[in-house]
Amino acid sequence: AKACGKNVYKMFDRKMNEHATERVTLLSDLRLALERDEFVLHYQPKVDLLTGNVTSVEALVRWMHPRLGMLAPDKFIRLSEESGFIVELTDWVLRTACSQAKKWQEQNLGSVRVAVNLSPYHFQRQDVKEAILSVLEATGLEPALLEIEITESALMQNDEYTCALFRELRELGMTISVDDFGTGYSSLSYLHRFPINTLKIDRTFILNMMKSTEDQAIVTAIIAMAKSLNMQIVAEGVETVDQLEKLKDQGCHEIQGFLVSRPVAADAVTEFFTPENHL
Ligand code: C2E
Ligand code: CA
Ligand code: CA
Ligand code: CA
Repeated sequence: AKACGKNVYKMFDRKMNEHATERVTLLSDLRLALERDEFVLHYQPKVDLLTGNVTSVEALVRWMHPRLGMLAPDKFIRLSEESGFIVELTDWVLRTACSQAKKWQEQNLGSVRVAVNLSPYHFQRQDVKEAILSVLEATGLEPALLEIEITESALMQNDEYTCALFRELRELGMTISVDDFGTGYSSLSYLHRFPINTLKIDRTFILNMMKSTEDQAIVTAIIAMAKSLNMQIVAEGVETVDQLEKLKDQGCHEIQGFLVSRPVAADAVTEFFTPENHL
């Protein structure tokens, strides 16, 4: 048994080393990836259930890794956050998304906002606001066409500072959305203190809504609460017509999910900008 334990330990040790090596490699790759232009943004539309119009498109980053192929954000966002690289990456995402939105506007494709995910780690940098403003200035995009998404859990970590920051961003005309809502257990009174425009109901509730009465009840409660606070509600991860119908009945304002479109390249998402094309 002892010998066996030793072997298991050796194997474990080797796996740990492999894992550590992989991380170090990925990390140095990450830093080069920006220079080598390996990141791309895909965009996923959010659709107003009353009008059928696209209100906003969420920018979602992908890494075209030369060896590993296309990497989803769950493969590199955490590492980017832990290493501090997230600040550079977010700057790139902001610049790319804003200049894209400006192009759409110049092509007369309508007033579609672009939504960018901000990592809580990013907030540790005290000049987030200045960074955002300099991107808006450089790209010529008006603040009203930029939406900032932050997760509910991130919101709960960075109380005072976040609150003040969001107030300023909103005064400038930007839209603030709370992502993955329902997973962070924030209370009504808590939420009320933040200058938030939109709640995005977390995908897991939408996924379970049709088979679990509890999840259905949570969705109903979130919608009622958001309405009482004059917030816009987006359901994320909508994949089926049944979910769509249920959300419509509940008075949900907007949906985002594979039912409308997967995240797609910039030129492909414009297809959804013409309201007659879908729903
Ligand atoms: P998120 O902000 O909650 O983004 C939505 C995720 O759900 C996206 O995954 C999207 O592809 C996926 N999704 C959308 N509709 C559906 C659906 O109907 N069904 C299912 N099963 N999934 C759906 P993705 O692109 O892999 O992004 C994962 C997460 O990575 C994002 O979650 C976000 O937290 C983070 N992320 C993505 N881009 C960025 C970025 O530029 N900066 C930062 N800080 N985080 C990012
Ligand atoms: Ca998001
Ligand atoms: Ca989300
Ligand atoms: Ca998520």
